[in-house]
Amino acid sequence: MNASPEHQRTLLDIADLDRRIDRTERARTKPTQAARISELVAIRQEQLRELTALTGTRDDVRTELARIESDVALVEKRRERDADRLAAATNPKEAQALEHEIASLARRQSDLEDAQLDVMGRVEDADAAVAAQQALLDTTTTEGTALTTQAKADVAAATELGAQLVRDREAVAATVPAPLLGEYTRRAVNSSGAALLTRGTCEGCRIVLPSTDLNEIRRAAEDAVVSCPECGCILVRTEESGL
Ligand SMILES: [Zn+2]
Repeated sequence: MNASPEHQRTLLDIADLDRRIDRTERARTKPTQAARISELVAIRQEQLRELTALTGTRDDVRTELARIESDVALVEKRRERDADRLAAATNPKEAQALEHEIASLARRQSDLEDAQLDVMGRVEDADAAVAAQQALLDTTTTEGTALTTQAKADVAAATELGAQLVRDREAVAATVPAPLLGEYTRRAVNSSGAALLTRGTCEGCRIVLPSTDLNEIRRAAEDAVVSCPECGCILVRTEESGL
């Protein structure tokens, strides 16, 4: 195939635009934050599970405390009632029985209050554990929200840039003869499509061409389309090609 050196050089611009289009496409479909965001989603789920468990434990301890408090109130009420009855008692036997019950209720109340103190301590611990877990969850949520906002902005920017690059490419591609563009497109499937030959090296695959291939390229006409024997891309020659 033959094509003017100028058209061949234009292929380098197209290859560069294609690389940038690929890059923006990757940025659009796979923003750099994506991996961390899905990591955070998993972490958040785990933290939420733990928070639910801790909240359940705390609620159980609170229920236990409420039960003890209500028992204490009951015992207090009975002690007051017995004290009133004792004050009004005329029968010594009845008075003795009441005194006995009051003493027993006092012991019961003291035991309940000890238990109450213990459970209050556990409620405090459980509250602190829930608060600490909530703080962890909040940190994860904050990081996730910030990254998602950033990712959305990056995707929007990449989408806009990608559209601009596609328009640029269309304009540049329109200046290249269709057969040459077709040749580039075919070769671009498995290589960079077109690359500069610089000091005997293919800039597409970074291979230093063997002297036999370089000799062949040297002998080729200026408008001959030559390709890299290694990667298959069109090799564009300039003054820097070192031929
Ligand atoms: Zn190559």
